Amino acid sequence: MGVTHHLSPFILTFHTIALSPCHECGKPKRGKKGDDSHYSDNVQSRDRWRWTLHESGDFTVKELTKLVEEKILDVNNGGDTTIWNKWVPKKVNIFVWRALKGRLPVREELNKRGIDLDSLLCPSCGDTVESCSHYLVMCNFAMSVWQKIFSWWKIGNVNAFPIEEIFSSNGNANIPSRSSRLWQAVIWTSGYFIWKERNTRVFKGKASNRNKIIQDIKLKSFEWIVRRSGKKSELNWQHWIFDPLKCQI
Ligand SMILES: [Zn+2]
Repeated sequence: MGVTHHLSPFILTFHTIALSPCHECGKPKRGKKGDDSHYSDNVQSRDRWRWTLHESGDFTVKELTKLVEEKILDVNNGGDTTIWNKWVPKKVNIFVWRALKGRLPVREELNKRGIDLDSLLCPSCGDTVESCSHYLVMCNFAMSVWQKIFSWWKIGNVNAFPIEEIFSSNGNANIPSRSSRLWQAVIWTSGYFIWKERNTRVFKGKASNRNKIIQDIKLKSFEWIVRRSGKKSELNWQHWIFDPLKCQI
């Protein structure tokens, strides 16, 4: 995905720096302005790689992850439409971010970018051009999954809705505020599994049973929330399956 491309400016900001010896003891000095400290005796080279995006000059995966989230995914940008749910994996958050930004590689988008395709039609119904909103929301297959999810939570029928609404905090449903984050984790997980099924159909040429997909959504959302919230004792599997609105964590 585009992250690799966008990361290149960060990676290319490594520089070598010359280590100047201290005129008193001869050991290499760190060389920063106002910094009179020395490198240890085991520094053999007079050059080292320096990561200029952190003041220490040291590269860490943690810092890189933080930069990706802040600068590329805008996860801390509260004024934007980008939202983040820590109860589902990053891959699900990134999927939702891409869906909201229109960056999922559906056939309509690939065609806009000049990619030659055998068909622009939806891989599920074969009736309509595959756009993001069609595949994830409007298609009969997606709608049948959403209907099952809404029924599971006992919150009425699902109506046609823009993609921005289904991934918003309440997923276009009347959910009590105490359950809204759980519900959001569920609808994001559902969207992710609907998309995963799309890729199975396109790249492996086979379709999964819809009830199996629903079961996977129930199980995975439970597992992810329990693991990430650290509150296993407060999320009961029986409640989760039969009356999730009673679950509170
Ligand atoms: Zn369709």
